[in-house]
Amino acid sequence: MTQTTEHYPLVATDLPGPRSAEYLDHQGRWESNARSYPRRLPIALAEGFGSYVRDVDGNVFIDFLCGAGVLSLGHNHPEVAAAAAGRLSVLTHALDFPTPAKREFLDAQLSMLSPDLRSRMKVHFCGPTGANAVDAALKLCKTATGRSEVVSFQGGFHGSSHAAMALTGLVSQKEPVAGGMPGVHFFPYSHCSRCPLELRPDTCRTNCAALLEHALEDPNGGIPKPAAVVLELVQGEGGVIPARPDFVRRIRALTRALDIPLVVDEVQTGCGRTGTWFAFEQYDVEPDVIIASKALSGIGLPVALILYDKRLDTWAPGAHTGTFRGNQAAFAAGVETIRIFERDGVLANVRERGAQLRARLGELADNPWVHEVRGLGLMWGVELADPTTGAPAAERAAAVQSYALRRGLIVELGGRDDSVIRLMPPLNVTAEVVDVAAGIVLEAVRSYCS
Ligand code: PMP
Repeated sequence: MTQTTEHYPLVATDLPGPRSAEYLDHQGRWESNARSYPRRLPIALAEGFGSYVRDVDGNVFIDFLCGAGVLSLGHNHPEVAAAAAGRLSVLTHALDFPTPAKREFLDAQLSMLSPDLRSRMKVHFCGPTGANAVDAALKLCKTATGRSEVVSFQGGFHGSSHAAMALTGLVSQKEPVAGGMPGVHFFPYSHCSRCPLELRPDTCRTNCAALLEHALEDPNGGIPKPAAVVLELVQGEGGVIPARPDFVRRIRALTRALDIPLVVDEVQTGCGRTGTWFAFEQYDVEPDVIIASKALSGIGLPVALILYDKRLDTWAPGAHTGTFRGNQAAFAAGVETIRIFERDGVLANVRERGAQLRARLGELADNPWVHEVRGLGLMWGVELADPTTGAPAAERAAAVQSYALRRGLIVELGGRDDSVIRLMPPLNVTAEVVDVAAGIVLEAVRSYCS
Protein backbone atom coordinates (compact mmCIF):
# COMPACT_ATOMS: atom_id res chain seq x y z
CA MET A 1 0.00 0.00 0.00
CA THR A 2 1.44 3.35 -0.99
CA GLN A 3 1.09 6.09 1.56
CA THR A 4 2.28 8.87 -0.71
CA THR A 5 -0.59 11.21 -0.24
CA GLU A 6 0.07 13.96 -2.75
CA HIS A 7 -2.71 12.81 -5.10
CA TYR A 8 -5.28 12.23 -2.39
CA PRO A 9 -8.20 12.36 -1.94
CA LEU A 10 -9.08 10.40 -5.05
CA VAL A 11 -12.51 9.06 -5.92
CA ALA A 12 -12.43 7.19 -9.22
CA THR A 13 -15.75 5.32 -9.15
CA ASP A 14 -19.38 6.20 -8.62
CA LEU A 15 -20.32 5.76 -4.97
CA PRO A 16 -20.77 3.18 -3.82
CA GLY A 17 -18.21 1.60 -6.11
CA PRO A 18 -18.98 -1.92 -7.36
CA ARG A 19 -17.14 -3.76 -4.61
CA SER A 20 -18.51 -1.49 -1.89
CA ALA A 21 -22.00 -2.07 -3.28
CA GLU A 22 -21.46 -5.77 -2.91
CA TYR A 23 -20.33 -5.41 0.72
CA LEU A 24 -23.24 -3.10 1.50
CA ASP A 25 -25.69 -5.59 0.01
CA HIS A 26 -24.21 -8.36 2.10
CA GLN A 27 -24.38 -6.14 5.17
CA GLY A 28 -28.00 -5.27 4.46
CA ARG A 29 -28.84 -8.94 4.09
CA TRP A 30 -27.25 -10.07 7.35
CA GLU A 31 -26.73 -7.15 9.68
CA SER A 32 -29.19 -5.36 11.88
CA ASN A 33 -31.63 -2.75 10.70
CA ALA A 34 -30.15 -0.54 13.41
CA ARG A 35 -26.84 -0.17 11.52
CA SER A 36 -26.21 3.50 10.91
CA TYR A 37 -23.07 5.10 9.40
CA PRO A 38 -22.98 3.28 6.04
CA ARG A 39 -26.52 4.30 5.30
CA ARG A 40 -25.39 7.85 4.58
CA LEU A 41 -21.77 7.08 3.81
CA PRO A 42 -22.17 4.13 1.43
CA ILE A 43 -18.66 2.71 1.31
CA ALA A 44 -16.93 -0.41 2.60
CA LEU A 45 -13.59 0.35 4.22
CA ALA A 46 -10.43 -1.53 3.37
CA GLU A 47 -7.58 0.31 5.09
CA GLY A 48 -6.63 3.56 6.72
CA PHE A 49 -3.49 5.65 7.05
CA GLY A 50 -3.24 8.94 8.93
CA SER A 51 -6.00 11.30 7.83
CA TYR A 52 -6.99 9.03 4.94
CA VAL A 53 -9.07 5.94 4.46
CA ARG A 54 -9.32 3.72 1.40
CA ASP A 55 -12.48 1.88 0.39
CA VAL A 56 -12.56 -1.58 -1.13
CA ASP A 57 -12.76 -0.04 -4.63
CA GLY A 58 -9.50 1.85 -4.14
CA ASN A 59 -11.07 5.28 -3.60
CA VAL A 60 -9.21 7.34 -1.01
CA PHE A 61 -11.02 9.78 1.27
CA ILE A 62 -9.95 12.34 3.83
CA ASP A 63 -11.54 11.02 7.00
CA PHE A 64 -13.05 13.80 9.13
CA LEU A 65 -15.27 11.33 10.95
CA CYS A 66 -12.33 9.50 12.48
CA GLY A 67 -14.27 6.67 14.05
CA ALA A 68 -16.65 9.22 15.62
CA GLY A 69 -13.76 11.05 17.22
CA VAL A 70 -11.83 8.00 18.33
CA LEU A 71 -8.77 8.18 16.06
CA SER A 72 -7.02 11.15 17.63
CA LEU A 73 -3.76 10.44 15.80
CA GLY A 74 -5.49 9.26 12.65
CA HIS A 75 -5.61 5.75 11.30
CA ASN A 76 -2.90 3.28 12.31
CA HIS A 77 -0.37 5.74 13.71
CA PRO A 78 2.76 3.58 13.29
CA GLU A 79 4.25 4.24 16.72
CA VAL A 80 0.93 3.73 18.49
CA ALA A 81 0.22 0.60 16.47
CA ALA A 82 3.67 -0.74 17.38
CA ALA A 83 3.09 -0.02 21.08
CA ALA A 84 -0.25 -1.87 20.96
CA ALA A 85 1.21 -4.77 18.98
CA GLY A 86 4.07 -5.03 21.46
CA ARG A 87 1.59 -5.96 24.18
CA LEU A 88 -0.20 -8.62 22.18
CA SER A 89 2.46 -11.25 22.67
CA VAL A 90 2.97 -10.34 26.35
CA LEU A 91 -0.47 -9.98 27.94
CA THR A 92 -3.71 -9.00 26.27
CA HIS A 93 -6.53 -9.27 28.77
CA ALA A 94 -6.31 -8.90 32.52
CA LEU A 95 -9.77 -8.09 33.88
CA ASP A 96 -9.09 -5.41 36.48
CA PHE A 97 -5.88 -6.88 37.87
CA PRO A 98 -3.06 -4.38 38.17
CA THR A 99 -0.48 -4.73 35.40
CA PRO A 100 2.54 -2.69 34.31
CA ALA A 101 0.71 -1.49 31.16
CA LYS A 102 -2.33 -0.43 33.13
CA ARG A 103 -0.28 1.37 35.73
CA GLU A 104 1.62 3.31 33.10
CA PHE A 105 -1.65 4.19 31.39
CA LEU A 106 -3.23 5.33 34.63
CA ASP A 107 -0.20 7.43 35.57
CA ALA A 108 -0.18 8.98 32.07
CA GLN A 109 -3.87 9.86 32.27
CA LEU A 110 -3.52 11.33 35.75
CA SER A 111 -0.51 13.35 34.62
CA MET A 112 -2.86 15.28 32.33
CA LEU A 113 -4.79 16.64 35.34
CA SER A 114 -3.70 19.59 37.46
CA PRO A 115 -1.82 18.46 40.61
CA ASP A 116 -4.67 19.65 42.80
CA LEU A 117 -7.36 17.77 40.89
CA ARG A 118 -5.14 14.71 40.57
CA SER A 119 -4.69 14.56 44.33
CA ARG A 120 -8.46 14.35 44.79
CA MET A 121 -9.26 11.83 42.09
CA LYS A 122 -9.82 8.11 41.90
CA VAL A 123 -10.34 6.15 38.70
CA HIS A 124 -12.66 3.33 37.78
CA PHE A 125 -12.06 1.29 34.64
CA CYS A 126 -15.41 0.58 33.00
CA GLY A 127 -16.65 -1.71 30.27
CA PRO A 128 -15.15 -0.45 27.03
CA THR A 129 -17.74 2.05 25.79
CA GLY A 130 -18.67 5.60 26.59
CA ALA A 131 -22.18 4.48 27.48
CA ASN A 132 -20.88 1.98 30.02
CA ALA A 133 -18.84 4.74 31.67
CA VAL A 134 -21.94 6.96 31.74
CA ASP A 135 -23.81 4.13 33.50
CA ALA A 136 -20.94 3.80 35.95
CA ALA A 137 -20.98 7.53 36.72
CA LEU A 138 -24.72 7.41 37.43
CA LYS A 139 -24.38 4.41 39.71
CA LEU A 140 -21.45 5.99 41.53
CA CYS A 141 -23.33 9.23 42.18
CA LYS A 142 -26.57 7.51 43.14
CA THR A 143 -24.72 5.25 45.57
CA ALA A 144 -22.70 8.06 47.12
CA THR A 145 -25.63 10.45 47.55
CA GLY A 146 -28.44 7.96 48.18
CA ARG A 147 -30.51 10.05 45.73
CA SER A 148 -32.42 8.91 42.65
CA GLU A 149 -32.97 11.91 40.34
CA VAL A 150 -30.60 13.08 37.64
CA VAL A 151 -30.45 16.34 35.69
CA SER A 152 -29.49 16.27 32.04
CA PHE A 153 -29.66 18.80 29.20
CA GLN A 154 -31.74 19.04 26.06
CA GLY A 155 -29.80 18.23 22.93
CA GLY A 156 -27.26 16.14 24.83
CA PHE A 157 -26.06 12.70 23.79
CA HIS A 158 -24.67 10.19 26.26
CA GLY A 159 -24.89 6.82 24.54
CA SER A 160 -27.23 4.01 23.58
CA SER A 161 -27.35 1.81 26.67
CA HIS A 162 -30.63 1.93 28.54
CA ALA A 163 -29.41 4.37 31.19
CA ALA A 164 -27.22 6.51 28.93
CA MET A 165 -30.09 6.79 26.47
CA ALA A 166 -32.32 8.02 29.28
CA LEU A 167 -29.98 11.01 29.68
CA THR A 168 -29.93 11.65 25.94
CA GLY A 169 -32.13 14.26 24.30
CA LEU A 170 -32.84 12.31 21.11
CA VAL A 171 -36.52 11.44 21.47
CA SER A 172 -36.71 9.23 18.36
CA GLN A 173 -34.20 6.80 19.87
CA LYS A 174 -36.10 6.56 23.14
CA GLU A 175 -39.68 6.49 21.95
CA PRO A 176 -39.76 2.90 20.65
CA VAL A 177 -38.22 1.51 23.85
CA ALA A 178 -40.71 1.36 26.68
CA GLY A 179 -39.74 1.67 30.32
CA GLY A 180 -36.70 3.95 30.27
CA MET A 181 -34.71 4.76 33.40
CA PRO A 182 -36.90 7.01 35.52
CA GLY A 183 -35.93 10.19 37.34
CA VAL A 184 -34.18 12.14 34.56
CA HIS A 185 -35.08 15.84 34.32
CA PHE A 186 -34.14 17.77 31.20
CA PHE A 187 -33.19 21.42 31.28
CA PRO A 188 -32.30 23.76 28.43
CA TYR A 189 -28.68 23.95 27.31
CA SER A 190 -27.04 27.24 26.40
CA HIS A 191 -27.76 26.87 22.72
CA CYS A 192 -27.78 30.58 22.05
CA SER A 193 -28.36 30.59 18.29
CA ARG A 194 -31.59 28.65 18.88
CA CYS A 195 -32.26 29.86 22.40
CA PRO A 196 -34.82 27.54 23.98
CA LEU A 197 -36.10 30.53 25.96
CA GLU A 198 -36.22 32.68 22.82
CA LEU A 199 -33.88 35.27 24.30
CA ARG A 200 -31.24 37.23 22.45
CA PRO A 201 -27.71 36.18 23.40
CA ASP A 202 -26.55 39.78 23.72
CA THR A 203 -29.19 40.72 26.26
CA CYS A 204 -29.78 37.39 27.99
CA ARG A 205 -28.19 36.76 31.36
CA THR A 206 -27.79 33.02 30.97
CA ASN A 207 -31.43 32.49 31.85
CA CYS A 208 -31.10 28.79 30.98
CA ALA A 209 -28.81 28.39 34.00
CA ALA A 210 -31.20 30.52 36.05
CA LEU A 211 -34.01 28.11 35.22
CA LEU A 212 -32.06 25.22 36.70
CA GLU A 213 -31.10 27.32 39.71
CA HIS A 214 -34.74 28.13 40.38
CA ALA A 215 -35.87 24.55 39.90
CA LEU A 216 -33.31 23.15 42.32
CA GLU A 217 -33.40 25.95 44.90
CA ASP A 218 -37.16 26.45 45.00
CA PRO A 219 -38.83 24.27 47.65
CA ASN A 220 -41.72 24.07 45.17
CA GLY A 221 -39.38 23.37 42.21
CA GLY A 222 -40.74 19.84 41.89
CA ILE A 223 -37.45 17.96 41.76
CA PRO A 224 -35.94 16.23 44.78
CA LYS A 225 -32.24 17.01 45.12
CA PRO A 226 -30.57 15.04 42.30
CA ALA A 227 -27.76 12.52 42.54
CA ALA A 228 -25.96 14.22 39.65
CA VAL A 229 -26.05 16.92 37.01
CA VAL A 230 -24.61 15.51 33.78
CA LEU A 231 -23.22 17.93 31.22
CA GLU A 232 -21.41 17.93 27.89
CA LEU A 233 -19.21 21.01 27.58
CA VAL A 234 -19.57 20.88 23.83
CA GLN A 235 -22.62 18.96 22.69
CA GLY A 236 -21.14 16.81 19.93
CA GLU A 237 -23.88 14.64 18.46
CA GLY A 238 -26.28 17.44 19.39
CA GLY A 239 -24.70 19.57 16.66
CA VAL A 240 -21.33 20.82 17.97
CA ILE A 241 -22.64 23.36 20.45
CA PRO A 242 -20.03 24.73 22.86
CA ALA A 243 -21.63 25.67 26.17
CA ARG A 244 -21.46 29.31 27.17
CA PRO A 245 -18.78 29.78 29.84
CA ASP A 246 -21.10 31.59 32.24
CA PHE A 247 -23.66 28.79 31.85
CA VAL A 248 -21.09 26.21 32.89
CA ARG A 249 -19.74 28.31 35.73
CA ARG A 250 -23.22 28.93 37.14
CA ILE A 251 -24.00 25.24 37.00
CA ARG A 252 -20.75 24.50 38.79
CA ALA A 253 -21.53 27.10 41.46
CA LEU A 254 -25.07 25.77 41.89
CA THR A 255 -24.09 22.12 42.12
CA ARG A 256 -21.32 22.96 44.57
CA ALA A 257 -23.64 25.03 46.75
CA LEU A 258 -26.25 22.25 46.81
CA ASP A 259 -23.71 19.43 47.15
CA ILE A 260 -24.72 17.78 43.87
CA PRO A 261 -21.95 15.96 41.97
CA LEU A 262 -21.26 17.63 38.61
CA VAL A 263 -20.50 14.97 35.99
CA VAL A 264 -18.87 16.15 32.77
CA ASP A 265 -19.28 13.76 29.86
CA GLU A 266 -15.96 14.20 28.06
CA VAL A 267 -16.35 11.04 26.00
CA GLN A 268 -16.13 13.15 22.85
CA THR A 269 -14.50 16.37 24.07
CA GLY A 270 -11.75 14.63 26.05
CA CYS A 271 -8.26 13.46 25.09
CA GLY A 272 -7.33 16.75 23.45
CA ARG A 273 -10.24 17.14 21.01
CA THR A 274 -10.97 20.73 22.08
CA GLY A 275 -7.35 21.90 22.36
CA THR A 276 -6.85 21.14 26.05
CA TRP A 277 -6.71 17.61 27.40
CA PHE A 278 -10.22 18.02 28.80
CA ALA A 279 -12.69 20.70 27.73
CA PHE A 280 -13.52 21.65 31.33
CA GLU A 281 -10.06 23.20 31.62
CA GLN A 282 -11.22 25.95 29.26
CA TYR A 283 -14.24 26.68 31.40
CA ASP A 284 -12.33 27.24 34.62
CA VAL A 285 -14.35 24.68 36.53
CA GLU A 286 -13.44 21.47 38.28
CA PRO A 287 -15.99 18.68 37.94
CA ASP A 288 -16.65 15.94 40.49
CA VAL A 289 -16.78 13.19 37.89
CA ILE A 290 -15.15 13.05 34.45
CA ILE A 291 -16.28 10.46 31.90
CA ALA A 292 -13.68 9.58 29.24
CA SER A 293 -13.57 6.99 26.51
CA LYS A 294 -13.43 7.32 22.70
CA ALA A 295 -9.85 8.57 22.07
CA LEU A 296 -8.16 7.24 25.21
CA SER A 297 -6.07 4.75 23.24
CA GLY A 298 -5.63 7.14 20.29
CA ILE A 299 -5.99 4.31 17.81
CA GLY A 300 -9.49 2.99 18.31
CA LEU A 301 -8.82 0.22 20.80
CA PRO A 302 -11.63 0.51 23.30
CA VAL A 303 -11.14 1.86 26.82
CA ALA A 304 -13.52 3.76 29.07
CA LEU A 305 -13.13 5.16 32.53
CA ILE A 306 -14.44 7.61 35.05
CA LEU A 307 -12.26 9.83 37.17
CA TYR A 308 -14.02 11.05 40.27
CA ASP A 309 -13.63 12.80 43.57
CA LYS A 310 -12.53 10.42 46.32
CA ARG A 311 -15.41 11.43 48.54
CA LEU A 312 -17.77 9.66 46.11
CA ASP A 313 -15.89 6.40 46.41
CA THR A 314 -18.46 4.73 48.62
CA TRP A 315 -19.61 1.99 46.26
CA ALA A 316 -18.87 -1.61 47.16
CA PRO A 317 -16.31 -3.96 45.62
CA GLY A 318 -17.83 -5.29 42.40
CA ALA A 319 -20.35 -2.44 42.14
CA HIS A 320 -19.52 -1.92 38.46
CA THR A 321 -17.86 -4.94 36.95
CA GLY A 322 -17.28 -5.89 33.32
CA THR A 323 -15.20 -8.50 31.54
CA PHE A 324 -13.51 -6.10 29.15
CA ARG A 325 -11.91 -3.64 31.52
CA GLY A 326 -8.32 -4.63 31.07
CA ASN A 327 -7.34 -4.22 27.42
CA GLN A 328 -3.56 -4.18 27.72
CA ALA A 329 -2.96 -3.26 24.07
CA ALA A 330 -5.27 -0.27 24.45
CA PHE A 331 -3.42 0.83 27.59
CA ALA A 332 -0.04 0.62 25.85
CA ALA A 333 -1.44 2.55 22.88
CA GLY A 334 -2.83 5.22 25.22
CA VAL A 335 0.54 5.73 26.90
CA GLU A 336 2.23 6.05 23.51
CA THR A 337 -0.47 8.46 22.35
CA ILE A 338 0.17 10.79 25.28
CA ARG A 339 3.93 10.57 24.64
CA ILE A 340 3.37 11.58 21.01
CA PHE A 341 0.99 14.38 22.01
CA GLU A 342 3.73 15.84 24.18
CA ARG A 343 6.59 15.21 21.76
CA ASP A 344 4.76 16.58 18.71
CA GLY A 345 2.84 19.41 20.34
CA VAL A 346 -0.47 17.90 19.26
CA LEU A 347 -2.60 20.11 21.54
CA ALA A 348 -1.04 23.20 19.95
CA ASN A 349 -1.83 21.70 16.55
CA VAL A 350 -5.46 21.28 17.60
CA ARG A 351 -5.65 24.96 18.46
CA GLU A 352 -3.90 26.08 15.27
CA ARG A 353 -5.82 23.83 12.90
CA GLY A 354 -9.00 24.75 14.79
CA ALA A 355 -8.31 28.43 14.10
CA GLN A 356 -7.67 27.55 10.47
CA LEU A 357 -11.01 25.74 10.21
CA ARG A 358 -12.79 28.59 11.96
CA ALA A 359 -11.37 31.02 9.40
CA ARG A 360 -12.09 28.87 6.35
CA LEU A 361 -15.59 27.82 7.39
CA GLY A 362 -16.22 31.42 8.40
CA GLU A 363 -16.18 32.21 4.67
CA LEU A 364 -19.66 30.70 4.65
CA ALA A 365 -21.02 33.26 7.10
CA ASP A 366 -22.82 35.26 4.42
CA ASN A 367 -24.50 32.21 2.87
CA PRO A 368 -28.21 32.55 3.69
CA TRP A 369 -28.56 28.82 4.39
CA VAL A 370 -25.73 28.79 6.93
CA HIS A 371 -27.40 29.33 10.26
CA GLU A 372 -24.18 29.13 12.25
CA VAL A 373 -20.58 27.94 12.07
CA ARG A 374 -19.36 26.90 15.52
CA GLY A 375 -16.87 24.72 17.30
CA LEU A 376 -13.96 24.40 19.64
CA GLY A 377 -10.53 22.92 18.96
CA LEU A 378 -11.04 20.34 16.24
CA MET A 379 -14.78 19.82 16.67
CA TRP A 380 -16.61 21.93 14.10
CA GLY A 381 -20.15 22.20 12.84
CA VAL A 382 -21.89 24.08 10.05
CA GLU A 383 -25.61 24.31 10.76
CA LEU A 384 -27.87 24.69 7.75
CA ALA A 385 -31.34 26.19 8.06
CA ASP A 386 -34.01 27.50 5.75
CA PRO A 387 -33.38 31.25 5.49
CA THR A 388 -37.09 32.03 5.42
CA THR A 389 -38.48 29.76 8.11
CA GLY A 390 -35.33 29.01 10.14
CA ALA A 391 -36.23 25.30 9.98
CA PRO A 392 -33.31 22.84 10.06
CA ALA A 393 -32.26 22.14 6.45
CA ALA A 394 -31.80 18.40 6.81
CA GLU A 395 -32.05 17.51 3.13
CA ARG A 396 -29.44 20.03 2.12
CA ALA A 397 -27.12 18.85 4.87
CA ALA A 398 -27.50 15.28 3.57
CA ALA A 399 -26.79 16.53 0.04
CA VAL A 400 -23.68 18.35 1.25
CA GLN A 401 -22.47 15.22 3.03
CA SER A 402 -23.02 13.10 -0.05
CA TYR A 403 -21.34 15.64 -2.36
CA ALA A 404 -18.35 15.87 -0.01
CA LEU A 405 -18.03 12.08 -0.08
CA ARG A 406 -18.00 12.07 -3.86
CA ARG A 407 -15.27 14.73 -3.75
CA GLY A 408 -13.28 12.61 -1.29
CA LEU A 409 -14.17 13.88 2.18
CA ILE A 410 -15.97 11.94 4.90
CA VAL A 411 -17.99 14.15 7.25
CA GLU A 412 -20.70 13.32 9.75
CA LEU A 413 -24.07 14.97 10.34
CA GLY A 414 -25.61 15.80 13.70
CA GLY A 415 -27.83 18.21 15.55
CA ARG A 416 -31.57 18.77 15.17
CA ASP A 417 -32.81 16.69 12.22
CA ASP A 418 -29.18 16.06 11.27
CA SER A 419 -28.88 19.55 9.82
CA VAL A 420 -25.33 20.19 11.08
CA ILE A 421 -22.31 19.16 9.03
CA ARG A 422 -19.75 17.94 11.53
CA LEU A 423 -15.99 17.91 11.08
CA MET A 424 -13.78 15.89 13.43
CA PRO A 425 -10.30 15.58 11.90
CA PRO A 426 -7.46 13.67 13.48
CA LEU A 427 -5.77 15.93 16.02
CA ASN A 428 -2.42 15.72 14.23
CA VAL A 429 -3.98 16.70 10.90
CA THR A 430 -1.81 18.92 8.71
CA ALA A 431 -2.63 22.42 7.48
CA GLU A 432 -2.67 21.09 3.90
CA VAL A 433 -5.29 18.44 4.63
CA VAL A 434 -7.44 20.94 6.53
CA ASP A 435 -7.21 23.28 3.58
CA VAL A 436 -8.30 20.66 1.06
CA ALA A 437 -11.12 19.42 3.30
CA ALA A 438 -12.40 22.92 4.08
CA GLY A 439 -12.35 23.67 0.34
CA ILE A 440 -14.57 20.66 -0.31
CA VAL A 441 -17.02 21.70 2.43
CA LEU A 442 -17.19 25.24 1.05
CA GLU A 443 -17.76 23.97 -2.46
CA ALA A 444 -20.40 21.49 -1.28
CA VAL A 445 -22.33 24.05 0.75
CA ARG A 446 -22.18 26.59 -2.09
CA SER A 447 -23.41 23.97 -4.57
CA TYR A 448 -26.48 23.07 -2.54
CA CYS A 449 -27.21 26.27 -0.66
CA SER A 450 -27.60 29.31 -2.83
N1 PMP B 1 -21.13 10.49 25.49
C1 PMP B 1 -20.87 11.27 24.44
C2 PMP B 1 -20.70 12.75 24.68
C3 PMP B 1 -20.73 10.74 23.15
O1 PMP B 1 -20.48 11.55 22.12
C4 PMP B 1 -20.89 9.35 22.98
C5 PMP B 1 -20.75 8.71 21.62
N2 PMP B 1 -20.93 9.49 20.54
C6 PMP B 1 -21.16 8.57 24.11
C7 PMP B 1 -21.27 9.16 25.35
C8 PMP B 1 -21.35 7.08 23.99
O2 PMP B 1 -20.16 6.45 23.70
P1 PMP B 1 -20.19 4.95 23.11
O3 PMP B 1 -20.76 5.06 21.73
O4 PMP B 1 -18.77 4.51 23.12
O5 PMP B 1 -21.04 4.16 24.01
